[in-house]
Amino acid sequence: MGYDIERFVGYVNEGLLCSICRDVLEDPLQAPCEHAFCTACIHGWLVHHSNCPEDRQVIDVSVLRPLYRYMKNDLNRLQLHCKNREFGCEMVCSLESIDRHERECEYSQIPCSNAGCTVQIERRNLDGHLAVCEYRSRECPNGCGYTILSAEDTQHNCVAELRTELELLRSEMICRVEEAKHEMESRLDSQRRHMVQKESVLQNEIEELKSQMSRVMSDVRSLMAAERQHRQELEQAELEKRELMELLRGLQKDCRFCDHLANFSTLHERLVNHFWYVYFPLGS
Ligand SMILES: [Zn+2]
Ligand SMILES: [Zn+2]
Ligand SMILES: [Zn+2]
Ligand SMILES: [Zn+2]
Ligand SMILES: [Zn+2]
Repeated sequence: MGYDIERFVGYVNEGLLCSICRDVLEDPLQAPCEHAFCTACIHGWLVHHSNCPEDRQVIDVSVLRPLYRYMKNDLNRLQLHCKNREFGCEMVCSLESIDRHERECEYSQIPCSNAGCTVQIERRNLDGHLAVCEYRSRECPNGCGYTILSAEDTQHNCVAELRTELELLRSEMICRVEEAKHEMESRLDSQRRHMVQKESVLQNEIEELKSQMSRVMSDVRSLMAAERQHRQELEQAELEKRELMELLRGLQKDCRFCDHLANFSTLHERLVNHFWYVYFPLGS
């Protein structure tokens, strides 16, 4: 939308008016047919039309161009009143610099700068308002560290504030302790499971070793028994041998050769058999 023509001082050329809003061009664009419009006006028009509102020539957004430089200069040099004239501002300046003035105009309505305050006030009165604004805040003079809004000034109680904060901190701490406890428990659980597994593996290995050991022991026992038996038999054989040798010596000493030849050969046979059995007891 353009600038209200009533605000301008002196004559405004017809060519500097928007064909749509009939006000003085604001942020202008120009169609190939040389008709000019405010950017907002022509964009709004082309949503539902596809021609120039002045002469019905077909146009679209892509053919719009900036205003000729000489027209732009004429436009910028126009003098107009500040939009806050009705509130008391008497500023008149060029269109080129009106935006800058209005941003800083002492008569412009601006919001109070305190968070939460909805008051709109002229810039020149802001300081006065800030001094009494209900949303102005200050640090507690008693040193509790709280920022007090002036509306709450009379209700502020350092002890109560600190107690509330303490309660908050305490419940937060309890929460954290609970969390830590849960985590610790779950970690311990997993370690315990791991240990139980390991223990059962070890237990199996021990059982295996025990059974191997008992097999070895029984082997040793039977070997020892065999050895004992062997030794006994050896001793027995030694005894018999000595006996027989004795007998043989006695015979040799005082018997006639012919009478005892038969006895002797039987004896010899017995001896040989006996030794054979003692020294080669298995598989012979
Ligand atoms: Zn317009
Ligand atoms: Zn046109
Ligand atoms: Zn002003
Ligand atoms: Zn305020
Ligand atoms: Zn306090």
